[in-house]
Amino acid sequence: MSAPLYDTPVRQRLALPQTELFQCAADIVEVLRREGYDAFLVGGSIRDSVMGKTAKDCDITTNARPEHVQALFPRTVPVGIEFGTVMVLQNDLPFEVTTFRADGRYEDGRRPESVSFSEHVTDDLERRDLTINGLIYAPESEEVLDYTGGLADIERRVIRTIGSPLARFGEDRLRMLRAVRFAARLNFQLDSDTFEAIRSVAPNIQEVSIERIQQEFQKMVQGAHPARGLQLLHETRLLPEILPELPGHEAAIHRLLHYEALEVTNETLALALLLVDAGASQAEHMVRRLRFPNETITQVGTLLKQYLTLKQYMELPMAARKRFLRQPLMSDILTLSTILQYHDRVPCEAVRAVQADLSQWDQAALSPTRLLDGNQLKQWGYRPGPQFKEILDAAEDEQLEGRLCTSDEVQHWLASHYPKENDT
Ligand code: ATP
Ligand code: MG
Repeated sequence: MSAPLYDTPVRQRLALPQTELFQCAADIVEVLRREGYDAFLVGGSIRDSVMGKTAKDCDITTNARPEHVQALFPRTVPVGIEFGTVMVLQNDLPFEVTTFRADGRYEDGRRPESVSFSEHVTDDLERRDLTINGLIYAPESEEVLDYTGGLADIERRVIRTIGSPLARFGEDRLRMLRAVRFAARLNFQLDSDTFEAIRSVAPNIQEVSIERIQQEFQKMVQGAHPARGLQLLHETRLLPEILPELPGHEAAIHRLLHYEALEVTNETLALALLLVDAGASQAEHMVRRLRFPNETITQVGTLLKQYLTLKQYMELPMAARKRFLRQPLMSDILTLSTILQYHDRVPCEAVRAVQADLSQWDQAALSPTRLLDGNQLKQWGYRPGPQFKEILDAAEDEQLEGRLCTSDEVQHWLASHYPKENDT
């Protein structure tokens, strides 16, 4: 069933939280209204507020043209002026103010050939993707106005396109992934027509740029229900299109369900759990192909390599254990391994040993001030060279093992293990 655009809106009273964000947004709307324009809060912030969630940003839609918006507010940035968007800075907070827009024909499955400005808010709502994203809010009457059936869909917990799903996905293929992303994030069902439409044209997602896919995929991974996202990607047949290298999805869903139960947001960890079966280097390749930032790529690779070391933890000498435990991503490596032990990938004894050592060794035990450094070596007459690092590492190992505790001991150890060239 595709959603109608109602002639008269369903109205629902809603007192928005008294936050600076909404206060500033209401002030912007008031300025526009005083000048005789229509203006509303729109989109995600209203959807989230109706659901009792905290909104992180707040968009405004108006029939004022961009140049009028620029003239009315002292601090503006023309962030997307050809699409009618001006950023207004109010109390240093940024608000995207967009002129009511009716999109022209979509020729390439990605973006409209042209956009034209409109006097009617319903034109603007018609171009938006999902009913839950088509809600507007009038601050002066404290009312949500619903022309798209979004309120009922929030109530029923359903994701549905505004208008015919096939037509809307034909205009912009990315909307398929957005529908899945919102269903996952909010833990909603996909409406059956929307679901079937995605299944029937899923391969067309290939026509969308990898950067746009990444944005949606990343939000899905960062959300509270990546396992559900993966399940829906599989059911809608989008999964092989966007992650063709994934060796299988069922085990990954189980691992991510475990992650969801932790109620943390940790993108690197979620990606590592998704991609364990691919192995570190293939996982890095996938995350790179999806255009994640370099830091994320490296961290995912590190997690997937280091949990393999953790599997062998019991066999490591004490110095190697301490070096392992003091690495920056240790807490994520431990969480990853803790989850993987329930999936028979890491022995639980190894996880327990790591936990025990972490509780017995504080930072000073893991990274004690070095008894021997390069300057000391020079003072004792050693000539700087390639062997320096080897000597320093060996001395630190001895220190971490507890076999060297004083400067005198170091000096003796040095003389017997690394005699000076002119001593030999
Ligand atoms: P989030 O909290 O994830 O940012 P959001 O609803 O603000 O959620 P955005 O991607 O920031 O989502 O988009 C803002 C609004 O613009 C959406 O609510 C929707 O109305 C509209 N929109 C965004 N992308 C599309 C698209 N591809 N097709 C149609 N409408 C879109
Ligand atoms: Mg947004």
